[in-house]
Amino acid sequence: MKITILGNNSAIPAHGRNPSAQIAEIKDFLLLIDCGEGTQMQMIKYGIKRSKIRYILISHLHGDHYFGLIGLINSFGLLGRTDPLHIYCPELLPAIIQAQLDASSAQLPYELHFHTIADSGERRVLVEDAVCRITCFPVDHRIATHGFVITEKAKARKLDLEACRQYEIPQYFYKRLQAGEDYEQKDGTIVQNEWVTLPGLEDKVYAYCADTRHTLSFVEDVAAADLIYHESTYLDADADLAILRYHSTAVQAAELAQASGAKRLMLGHYSSRYKEIEAFEAEAKRVFPNTVASFEGMEVRV
Ligand SMILES: [Zn+2]
Ligand SMILES: [Zn+2]
Repeated sequence: MKITILGNNSAIPAHGRNPSAQIAEIKDFLLLIDCGEGTQMQMIKYGIKRSKIRYILISHLHGDHYFGLIGLINSFGLLGRTDPLHIYCPELLPAIIQAQLDASSAQLPYELHFHTIADSGERRVLVEDAVCRITCFPVDHRIATHGFVITEKAKARKLDLEACRQYEIPQYFYKRLQAGEDYEQKDGTIVQNEWVTLPGLEDKVYAYCADTRHTLSFVEDVAAADLIYHESTYLDADADLAILRYHSTAVQAAELAQASGAKRLMLGHYSSRYKEIEAFEAEAKRVFPNTVASFEGMEVRV
């Protein structure tokens, strides 16, 4: 899985930084996480193929997380998209988008499917297919907001071809061995899976914590992620503002990462009051050394 940061500023575009948007690349498709104003231009700038976007996740309805969405939906139509598009979002979003489409008499050449997440707060699986699983969890923000955990499923077990030949396992059964099945020989002898296969790669887990005040209420949801993205709107000196405005500081993001057992932490959603962002990483690293401050265009392998 590869994460590309398209926007990492909070509230408004400022200092050359854009509002929230990220791309997760899994196998041959893309997943867009939040879609602030300017997201399409950022996609073009960083060579993101819009046609490959299969799922869009919208964390909440503050404009800096979805004002770019109607433009993208419209562009998909103009670009002749025919693949269905699935959007996972707050309850009100379908009506907002539909009003905009109706007002311009837009006819989309593709199916647009909304899957709403209850504003009351939900923890559930949104997507489960052969290659990935996406779940949502509520966070603590001024309006209903959810974070997302994206899991790229582990590759199948690796075949030990020499052992497979030794046990005379027919090639048609190899796919089932990779899926973890045992093989029964003609005389009824069971060839145990681990005799003829080796472990595949492990699941890769990315947790996007959206906009949130500092809380450990979702620490279990993001437990042991390979990479956590946690907002750090403010520096420690402005911790009082973080509480007041339902946001977090870099240190608080680090505390969450520490408590969850995550391997790495990525910061973002910087307040426009800060022109430079170096101090965010420095403050967080005092609590959680494996921290990186995101910048736009940054690509991170999970
Ligand atoms: Zn925001
Ligand atoms: Zn917000």
